[in-house]
Amino acid sequence: MGLIDRLPSVRGKISANVPLAPYTWLRVGGPAEALFMPKDEADLAHFLSSTPDDIPVTILGVASNTLVRDGGVKGVVIRLGPSFAKVETNGLIVTAGAAALDNKVAKEAAKAGIAGLEFYAGIPGTIGGALRMNAGCYGAETKDVLTEVVALDRTGRRQVMSLEELGYSYRHSNAPDDLIFVQAKFKGRADNPEDIHARMAAITAKREESQPIREKTGGSTFKNPDQIQSKGRGAWQVIDAAGGRGYKVGGAQMSEKHCNFMINTDEATAADLETLGETMRNMVKESQGVDLDWEVKRIGEVAT
Ligand SMILES: Cc1cc2nc3c(=O)[nH]c(=O)nc-3n(C[C@H](O)[C@H](O)[C@H](O)COP(=O)(O)OP(=O)(O)OC[C@H]3O[C@@H](n4cnc5c(N)ncnc54)[C@H](O)[C@@H]3O)c2cc1C
Repeated sequence: MGLIDRLPSVRGKISANVPLAPYTWLRVGGPAEALFMPKDEADLAHFLSSTPDDIPVTILGVASNTLVRDGGVKGVVIRLGPSFAKVETNGLIVTAGAAALDNKVAKEAAKAGIAGLEFYAGIPGTIGGALRMNAGCYGAETKDVLTEVVALDRTGRRQVMSLEELGYSYRHSNAPDDLIFVQAKFKGRADNPEDIHARMAAITAKREESQPIREKTGGSTFKNPDQIQSKGRGAWQVIDAAGGRGYKVGGAQMSEKHCNFMINTDEATAADLETLGETMRNMVKESQGVDLDWEVKRIGEVAT
């Protein structure tokens, strides 16, 4: 029996053997054995509760922080559709579906005069991705404004979790790996929409100036290292000091503009990109004595 035959009938769409590269920012990677786009939360819950335990399930946002390996992803990859992308405001509270783009959340908050979510204007992912890794930039991060999330576990059980239960630290959450976030609530503070918009424009301009945002990239490749070990330097600084700026492996390159960003120069495979990342880790360890940890999530199988 094939994978598709073992999956429950759903109201959303399930397709077999779907190339994932077009869905990712790095534009590399093999196919999902199956791709499921649930119609709504009830459809997702039904799918999770009725799908046999031995079938792996992977959730993706817009894959702006994910490297899909060339051999593709076994089991079912889930992408949340439009019914998960709604954003509403009420007083100082912003309620966003997990498929909402961070940028849209920032804009809706600004329009309603809710300050504190401006940093999302600088992050090209979805709220689901932001919740998973406490996304942030320029001194602000998800945990500063988040109050509550709604998530489904692998059995389809719905849970409402407080900020404390998510165990956030720098680009990390202790939330169980099997959780699929479906909604988040944020609380901001009152401010003038014009001032908020001005701060968002400043963030966008800064990003444009310092990051290769028009390239096929995955954002920061590595988390900033331990500050004692690195003597206060960020990931890009230790990569630069190790000679990594512009370094190439096949079609993969560390950006000249921001050397903690990997770029697919058009011909890269996922293997090129992963080898480039591992090469950077070795070069930085050998020459700077600093350990770099991947910020980009790597999923799927190496091509055989
Ligand atoms: C040009 C560029 C600039 C960037 N700048 C920043 C920055 O300044 N700050 C920053 O923090 N990041 C930055 N990033 C990285 C990225 O945008 C963020 O990590 C973002 O939060 C990822 O969201 P996504 O939807 O793309 O997640 P994906 O890459 O699709 O997934 C990332 C992880 O989140 C999980 N996930 C996704 N959706 C859900 C869900 N609904 N429930 C549970 N888990 C889920 C996935 O399983 C995966 O483990 C940048 C990326 C690029 C390309």
